[in-house]
Amino acid sequence: MIDVTLESVSKRFARGGDTAAVDDVDFTIAAGEFFTLLGPSGCGKTTTLRMVAGFYFPTSGRIRFGEEDVTRRPPNKRDTGMVFQNYALFPHMSVAQNVAYGLKIRKVGRADAKRRVEEALGQVHLAGYGDRRIDELSGGQQQRVALARALVIRPKTLLLDEPLSNLDAKLREETRTEIRRIQKEAGTTGIYVTHDQAEAMAMSDRIAVMQSGRVQQIGAPQDIYHRPATSFVARFIGRSNVLSLPVLAATEAGVTVGLPGGGEIAAPAPAGHGLRQGETALVSVRPEHIGLTTTTDPGALPGRIAEVEFTGMATNLVVDTAGEQVQVAAVDVPAGLAVGDQVGLRLNRERMWVVRP
Ligand code: ADP
Ligand code: MG
Repeated sequence: MIDVTLESVSKRFARGGDTAAVDDVDFTIAAGEFFTLLGPSGCGKTTTLRMVAGFYFPTSGRIRFGEEDVTRRPPNKRDTGMVFQNYALFPHMSVAQNVAYGLKIRKVGRADAKRRVEEALGQVHLAGYGDRRIDELSGGQQQRVALARALVIRPKTLLLDEPLSNLDAKLREETRTEIRRIQKEAGTTGIYVTHDQAEAMAMSDRIAVMQSGRVQQIGAPQDIYHRPATSFVARFIGRSNVLSLPVLAATEAGVTVGLPGGGEIAAPAPAGHGLRQGETALVSVRPEHIGLTTTTDPGALPGRIAEVEFTGMATNLVVDTAGEQVQVAAVDVPAGLAVGDQVGLRLNRERMWVVRP
């Protein structure tokens, strides 16, 4: 268990043109933390993880494990366990032989290796499966073997690149809880890569949201959900409306913005937001934090219903307001609400948040 620091790390590929695959990334992952790199396909997650593993060296910047600079150290000298999307198991070997692979390379003695393989299979709840063939196992079991193989070397860091992508939805949910349990019990520092925001939220101590090679925001799942830094983060994590509204007044803690229709509302903003009266603020508000009211409610945003969809748990509405379409997820809606009806939208001011472009 060790902390991992990336200092101004960038990676440009020879065939990558002018754009950096990873662009000036900085963070420290605490020892024992479960840290997730989250973002859309192509944003640089795998490249970042491969630099931590040593499969790629950064074009610039430094990587440290604890106090040690490992920037140009080869992968086999880093004590990292790695799990991939496609498992990368040896199909012709037994479960035990697959798990023992890293120990064989490290020249661990036979008796010691046997004990450690059993211990690792126990950690992933596959005790007694050592003699099975890989192709006799389900996808979920194969993924556990891959985890055991990574854990058996007692790695300082456990690196996982979209390990659940090949599993069906139900198994994916079960296995994500398992992976977190195993990482915590093994007492290793976990770095996890996914494009699935629900998975990231459910598993992580902290998340780094990436876009186009850059880190947009780092924080606990609740921080990122309730206080997204940018409009990209607001829209990528869950669903959100990002409204452009005129600033009527500004303080350090927030802004008062004007609503189309004449109302005004105070929205909290991050320290140092720098907005002034007369400028336009981007205000994020999630569909579940908007209530329905009448058009005559003075604090409400007036609009006209464009879509109604009943999902059981909530009714999803799309409402045309001056300039923007607003998504609403309302738990209680008046009976008979229909497309074309005029409504007022009441924004929950505690749940609004000013974001950067
Ligand atoms: P992610 O894992 O987030 O989907 P990657 O880290 O795989 O993203 O890729 C980031 C960017 O770097 C992409 O634009 C990708 O095309 C590019 N890239 C990745 N690996 C290579 C490579 N070996 N050579 C050239 N470009 C690469
Ligand atoms: Mg990837």
